[in-house]
Parts: sequence; C-alpha cells; structure tokens
Amino acid sequence: RDPFQPHDSVTPCLLLTELLPFPVPLAELSLMNKLIHTSLVESQQHVEILQRDPNSPLFSVKTFEELPLKKELLQGVYMMGFNRPSKIQEQALPLMLAYPPQNLIAQSQSGTGKTAAFVLAMLSRASASEKYPQCLCLAPTYELALQIGQVVRTIGKFCTDIKVNYAVRGNRVLKGTALEEQIIIGTPGTTLDWCFKQRILDLAKISLFVLDEADIMIDMQGLSCQSIRIHRALPKSCQVLLFSATYKEPVRAFAERIIPDPIVIKLREEELTLSNIRQYFMVCQGLDEQYRALCNLYGSFIIGQVMIFCQTRRLAVWLAGKMSQDGHQVAILTAELTVVQRASVIQRFREGKEKVLIATNVCARGIDVQQVTTVVNFGLPVDLDGGPDFETYLHRIGRAGRFGHRGIAFSVVQRDTVPLVHRIEEYFQTTIKQLDPYDMDELE
Ligand code: ADP
Repeated sequence: RDPFQPHDSVTPCLLLTELLPFPVPLAELSLMNKLIHTSLVESQQHVEILQRDPNSPLFSVKTFEELPLKKELLQGVYMMGFNRPSKIQEQALPLMLAYPPQNLIAQSQSGTGKTAAFVLAMLSRASASEKYPQCLCLAPTYELALQIGQVVRTIGKFCTDIKVNYAVRGNRVLKGTALEEQIIIGTPGTTLDWCFKQRILDLAKISLFVLDEADIMIDMQGLSCQSIRIHRALPKSCQVLLFSATYKEPVRAFAERIIPDPIVIKLREEELTLSNIRQYFMVCQGLDEQYRALCNLYGSFIIGQVMIFCQTRRLAVWLAGKMSQDGHQVAILTAELTVVQRASVIQRFREGKEKVLIATNVCARGIDVQQVTTVVNFGLPVDLDGGPDFETYLHRIGRAGRFGHRGIAFSVVQRDTVPLVHRIEEYFQTTIKQLDPYDMDELE
C-alpha cells in the first residue's frame, strides 16, 4: 500500500461527506486552489497575533527591501512580479528571517502567500557552499510537495547553487549516497524512510523545518504521527515553521505539540455575508420550464460571467449539454475530472474563455473564483433530509458579493421547494424576491 496515492488513506472533509455522494479529499482541494491561484487572494481582513513571545518584539515590513534578503532572492521576488509583501508576509517574514531564528505558527486561507513566505525563508537559510540538506519541508501529498518545489525553483532562480531534492514515493536514491541538495521537500512517509531506513538524510543537520498544510496532515491518517517522529529527531536549535489554512482545535493541539510556546499569527478568515447580494427566486413547473427560465434570465440579464450550481452531477451534465446545444459557451466542473483538469477548467473560466461555469457542490466548495458576481442555483441546495442546506447556500451565494462587490443571485426552483426559499430567508434574515420567470422587468 502506498500511503500517498491521492485516494488512499484520506479522510474526507466532514461537511462534504455529510452532504455529497462522494468525498473530495482536502489535499486535492488544496492542490486545486494552488493550481488556480496565479495571483494573490486579496483580503480585507487583518492579521491577528494570537500568541506572542514577550522576548521577541514583533515588527512588520511594508517592502521586501526592508527584509534581510540576499540580492539573488530579491531578484527572484521581482521576477515573480511581487511588488510588496502580502498581509501575512508583512508579519511573518521578519520573524521567519530573524536572528536568532524564531519558531512560528501561521494560519491564513489558501492563496494568501504562505508558500512564497516559507520558500523565501528556506532559500535564505540554506547555505549554498555547504553540500548537505539543511532545510526540510513536509507536505501531505506527492503533488503538493512537487508544487512547493516548483515555487522554490522559480523564486530561487538566481540562487543557482541551491539545489532541491524530493523525498517522495518513486524517487529512488541509492542507499548510502550522500545527499548534496540543501533543500529537501517530502511527504512524511518517504522522509521517515530516508532518515531511518535508508539513512541518507541526517536530521541532526537540519536547521529549518517547515510543516506545510498542517490541517491536512492531521486529516490524513498517520501523517501527523510521522511528522512528529521526524520532528523529534531534529536538533533543539532547529527553527520550526508550521502553516495551516485553518486553526481549529485538533490543528492547535498538533501544532503546540510540535512548537511549544509558539508565536501564532493568523489572518482573520473572511466572513461570507449575504448583505450586499440581491437575491431572487423563480418558481417553475418541472425541469423544462426551469431551463426556459434560465435561458430568459441569460438572454435578458446575464452579461458577464455566471456560475450555475446543480445539486447532482447528472443534472449538471444535462444542463451543460442543453446549454451548449443552444450555442452557449459552457464549462463544467465535475468530480471525475482530475485535479489538474479541474484547475484548468477554473483557470479558463477565470480568463473569460467560457462565460458559464456549471458546477456541483462537490467541486465548488472551497474554490475561489473571485470575479464572479452572478450565481444561479438551478434548484436549491438541500440536505439529506430534504431541508434547505443553509451553509451551502451561503457558500454558493456569498462568493458573489466578496470584497465589497455587489452580487446577484437567482434561484430557479420548482413549486414544491418554495417553502425552502422562505426558510432560507428566515434563517439568514434576508429577503429573496420572487420574479416571474417570463418577465424580467421586475429586476432592479
Ligand atoms: P498560499 O501558500 O497561502 O496558498 P501562495 O504563496 O501559493 O499562497 O501564493 C498564492 C499566489 O500569490 C501565488 O500565485 C503566488 O505567486 C502569489 N504571491 C505570493 N506572494 C505574493 C506577493 N507578495 N505579491 C504578489 N503575489 C504573491
């Protein structure tokens, strides 16, 4: 058994398993977000310092030049097109690069610049003239490890003497060889193997240890224990940095086992709200009428891009087929696509190559398409008991009104689900206005 097969030993995200016929592993979701985040996710939230070390005053920087970065790294940063540090980087980078080295726990949602930050730390700490592993970074899966390596290679383009190796399945290194690469990126299982079985990686010489995606590590059975075993064999003086997109109780407990008395910085999670979203619903008799209502909506209102949600994959496939036949450019996001294919569908949509993205919940949870301001529910999201699924409604719609954008949401529903519309209104204390599916004039 290979523990790094994506579908193996993965405990699926709780909410998804509750609601959906098949699970999306968190690691896949994270990889997909990484593949589609070609730029920083803007955030209006502030960085909070949850815990601090009274002996090390925190300071923040507004420019990369204020940091103790060597010129090859500044060149790398400029080449990436980074003009200034992201919010989390402003606070985290000074700490990560400080002398004496500081341990740190940093939490922020994906796309906010964590990877770039610890890659800068690894490339700063690694000494090019010493030919042995000095920085070790653990990631939950093979794909995520390679993704980090990609970032090291691009930001480190001008640090020509710093090399990377991967402690991942399939990368065979002869027993007894002396690794010369300064940076090792690996999954916990293979890294353990390299340290204790093959004995090619000497943990006693590691001076920077990065644990990325800690929340996913603890979600995947065995990985957190393996990480703890690796951590135990590190020298006391080793700097430890831990990153996570969430910081709930199990992550906190795990993090504090690895870093006692840590400095914890956290970018406040953005709260989804329905307050700047206009919501409408239309009542139809049967699927065909729902489709006609959607077409009317499309013809008379939707100019920009729209995301359409369906409760099942069958419905999504049917709708995509029908819309394409009618000459619309549609993209569809279903779970049988590979992560890379899904990321590419989202990327094309983001670039405006398709105007309509049809998705099921399974694909839409947790992904970020920032510019969408129009959302259509082709049927309401329901839970297993047939009641309204409030949280999914909020996630689908709340995205349309982010960063102060004014969003608009339409729910095209059948008559028997009208009571659910009213329950949603009540639950969120919001108004969902009824529209005549054949008369859009009422739309403000
Ligand atoms: P995370 O690890 O939090 O998911 P990343 O470090 O992968 O976030 O960054 C997300 C995207 O933003 C990447 O495409 C990255 O190149 C870009 N990015 C990171 N830091 C900056 C910055 N300071 N300025 C502009 N873009 C940045």
